[in-house]
Amino acid sequence: MKPYAFGIDLGGTTVKCGFFKNDGSLIEKWEIPTIKDNGGVQILPDIAAAIKGKLSERNVSPEDVEGVGIGVPGPVLANGVVNGCVNLGWGVFNVAEELSGLLGGIPVVAANDANVAALGEQWKGGGEGHQNVVMVTLGTGVGGGIIVGGRILAGGHGAAGEIGHIQMRKDETAVCGCGKKGCLEQYASATGIVRMAHLALKEERKLPSLLDGKEITSKEIFDAAKAGDDAALGLVDTLGEMLGTALAHITAVVDPDVIVIGGGVSKAGQILIDAITKHYRTAAFHACRDTEFKLAVLGNDAGMYGAVRTVLNR
Ligand SMILES: [Zn+2]
Repeated sequence: MKPYAFGIDLGGTTVKCGFFKNDGSLIEKWEIPTIKDNGGVQILPDIAAAIKGKLSERNVSPEDVEGVGIGVPGPVLANGVVNGCVNLGWGVFNVAEELSGLLGGIPVVAANDANVAALGEQWKGGGEGHQNVVMVTLGTGVGGGIIVGGRILAGGHGAAGEIGHIQMRKDETAVCGCGKKGCLEQYASATGIVRMAHLALKEERKLPSLLDGKEITSKEIFDAAKAGDDAALGLVDTLGEMLGTALAHITAVVDPDVIVIGGGVSKAGQILIDAITKHYRTAAFHACRDTEFKLAVLGNDAGMYGAVRTVLNR
């Protein structure tokens, strides 16, 4: 194997770039802005320029680069074709082929960003030492990635691991960002738990007293729950019920060794894990009832690590 590789995590506002040795150790990381003008035409040329710039700065020949892995915020097929990225203005094209062309033929592997984050956590994070990992990322939405046998499950449409859009409630009237109603992320994300708090207020249930006069954020809700506020505990329990039930469905299909919980909401820590596992253990098939839950450890670097792993593990 050649001595160096790059891991790129392409986000809606910044591109996180990592320059690695082929043993997976990080040499340097940096960021460049994501310029989304004109349908995002400049994004891949900017990434190619950043990679070439780093190679010349460090006096490394492109011949010594094993490959570039890139995580993209949209559905990506195993062959590198992205099936539209609404955030970036991208349609359908082969990201891997195009970036490789801009880099003079350095091999490129492209995958969905949540999936590469899951691969990063499986490789060097909360799932380290396990080959089969389900990761859930709880942020503005609910993202997910499924790693089977140490490899990303991309699926037939690049949409494997879209855990956030599992339908949980048929009676929901609010519309999810995906256009459906009753998706997991309408309840179990940072936005979801805040939405539920506002609904509880409307129904004149007891207000989380610790939230009086404060803007409601998911952190405030978890803090109030930790302080013993009944209404906040109820909101956290509902989030746990939604996630725990959805994960029980997922484990009945995938049966992972471990489930990793990441994203901003996971900073709530043990109270979140407890809320999820309480419902998970009652809903799960008996053989996977004791599946271990772990918190993610790589934070914002998970995507970069997972992206480079895709080229180091071809
Ligand atoms: Zn949805």
